[in-house]
Amino acid sequence: MVDEKQYTCPKCKDKGTIMDPDGTIHTCFDCLVAGRLQAHVTEIKDTKLRI
Ligand SMILES: [Zn+2]
Repeated sequence: MVDEKQYTCPKCKDKGTIMDPDGTIHTCFDCLVAGRLQAHVTEIKDTKLRI
């Protein structure tokens, strides 16, 4: 079985955010740096992320 999902960002699966097991949501740093984050994701930006 081959898991060949071609995500632009395998880390967050193109969602732009990563959720920790404890429920904390982080903005995906890779996407942030690459400028892939969409507008609707920026509202999560005030989590603990500093640019
Ligand atoms: Zn990402």
